Amino acid sequence: MAQRSCVGWAFISLLSYSSVSWASDSAKFDQLILQLEQGEVIFTTRAELDTFSQLIKSVVPVDDPVRVLRLNRELCLGDYLDKPEQGIVFANKFIEELAATQDLVNLSHFYLCRAQHYASQNRNKEQEQDLTTALDLANRSEDALSQALMLSSTAEMYSARGQHADSLVLHFKAHDLYKKLGHRYGIGFSVENIATAFRRMGEYEKAIEYLDLSEKEFVAPGDQYRLGFLLQQKAFVYGELGKPAVAKQLFSRVRQIYQQIGEPTFVTATDIDLMWIANMEQRYSESLELADQVLTQLAGYQQQGEGQQVVNQGLFQLYRAEALAGTGKLPEALQQFTQAHQEIGALNNPRYMLWLMRAWSKALADAGMHDQAYQRLLEANQLQDGLNSQAKRQRESLLRYQFDTALQDEKNNQLKAENQLSAQQVLVLESAQRWQYIAIGLFIILALIALFYAISQIQRNRQLHRLAMTDELTQVANRRSILWFAEQTRLKAIAQQQHWCLLLIDIDYFKQCNDSFGHDAGDQVLVQTAAAMKSLLRNSDRVGRTGGEEFLLVLPDMDLHAATAIAERLRQVVAQLTFAPYGEVKITVSVGVAEAGRHEDVREAMSRADAALYQAKSLGRNKVVSA
Ligand code: GH3
Ligand code: MG
Ligand code: MG
Repeated sequence: MAQRSCVGWAFISLLSYSSVSWASDSAKFDQLILQLEQGEVIFTTRAELDTFSQLIKSVVPVDDPVRVLRLNRELCLGDYLDKPEQGIVFANKFIEELAATQDLVNLSHFYLCRAQHYASQNRNKEQEQDLTTALDLANRSEDALSQALMLSSTAEMYSARGQHADSLVLHFKAHDLYKKLGHRYGIGFSVENIATAFRRMGEYEKAIEYLDLSEKEFVAPGDQYRLGFLLQQKAFVYGELGKPAVAKQLFSRVRQIYQQIGEPTFVTATDIDLMWIANMEQRYSESLELADQVLTQLAGYQQQGEGQQVVNQGLFQLYRAEALAGTGKLPEALQQFTQAHQEIGALNNPRYMLWLMRAWSKALADAGMHDQAYQRLLEANQLQDGLNSQAKRQRESLLRYQFDTALQDEKNNQLKAENQLSAQQVLVLESAQRWQYIAIGLFIILALIALFYAISQIQRNRQLHRLAMTDELTQVANRRSILWFAEQTRLKAIAQQQHWCLLLIDIDYFKQCNDSFGHDAGDQVLVQTAAAMKSLLRNSDRVGRTGGEEFLLVLPDMDLHAATAIAERLRQVVAQLTFAPYGEVKITVSVGVAEAGRHEDVREAMSRADAALYQAKSLGRNKVVSA
């Protein structure tokens, strides 16, 4: 019965690695390692393995510590397959060396190697410890290929111990990782092992389903080893289902395949399977013929030191014993059963042991040894009970795993959906925020423009207002402004029952001034006379230019007497004025004073003042006349 292992060094086929041409030793080495990692290089004989080992040793760059370590990692198993004691010593050295480093990947592989050596010494506890450590290291390293390998190896350990559900769960996990890695060999390998685990749990439909899947998807055209293995697995299922005819057909095809590819040890293993079927159909003499054939072949292998791994001696002896009993050769049969008991006992496989006990009991009964037959039957029943309750536990734990996985998937999907939703919301919020910023920015710019515009508008208006109310030359109030002020003063005076006065002032002989000294000198006279008058007035008073050389002064809260005094003082001050740079220029003014009457409007008061001014002119100018 051929057993496959997930570790590249173990068995089965050998690819044409020598056909590749290489640029350098490093490239050669890396290529060979990659083929091992991908499961493309597998060995069926010791000789093939040694050839590969020599080849890879010959190309390793000896001054490259990383590649040397990588080689040792492979040799730990490859060079010590049948020397587990030395293999353990070899692994120990590297486990010690790497313990202090962060090289979790290589460390995990040396633990795996040591676990495999412990397994071949039946040191189950140590094997389990090392595998646990290896898986933990691989998980921590986050190297998916190492993780998958450790999961597969742990699954195989469980499988060998009959813990098929545990094995199945780990194979499922490894399968997921291999799928993510696109590791064809790993995927096919885990599917096949899932099928085997289902078969051993008695879940035959599932087993067939996975074997069909593997046959369809993972058997490359021409990969006869793989096809042989799959068909053999299928044959086991039909055999166990009690369909020996189908099983026989399949085993015959398998045998043909192995013959074609020249694998005699596999042919022998298949002959043993055919004995099982022949016994099932009670064709015991045919079974015995097969047994003789097998014995001859085994003798040949023993000389060459081969075939031990592939051929299950325990089962062979069991089937042979059954066939001997079936053909009535009872003493020989009983002897063979005893031998088979020893072999199968070492395998620690309760299923095989159950088969043995049943067949043995029957043979003992046929031989009339009823006591012993009864004992074997009791043992068989005990084993059956154990297997039944184990199967129940396994189905339960499988269901639990499937439930947990479904639950986890649902949770993951929910989380994913939530994440997607919140990511979308974040995107929407972000774009809304962006638009908000843009809007705020635009608003600020617009507001600044508006503010700037408003300020300049206000300034312009003020300017315009000032221009509109001011005499350009003298910078005192213009005619409109001073008349408006006079009207305000009148209204206020009425409201507060106050007196108020106005003075009408005209420069004397101004035409002559212009004529004699020029227009510019005249302008200067106007400017300085206006300034002088302004400086003599109270804050509440106001002076305005009403015509060419004519001014109106409005004096709120003042009676005629006081106003006349002010006018007189004004007349005197103006007469004293000099007008730099026009040193010779002298001027005088004539002033008409009027106090506004209670019911008089501004125009009426002004005409009275004008009359007084006219009188002052008539009196010879440089005079003040009150109306
Ligand atoms: P009177 O004593 O009778 O007032 O004689 P006058 O020469 O002052 O009076 P008139 O009305 O005959 O002449 C006023 C002159 O004032 C005429 C004009 O040339 C001059 N004048 C009016 N506005 C301005 C001005 O803005 N600048 C200058 N330089 N002269 C002006
Ligand atoms: Mg005049
Ligand atoms: Mg004048």
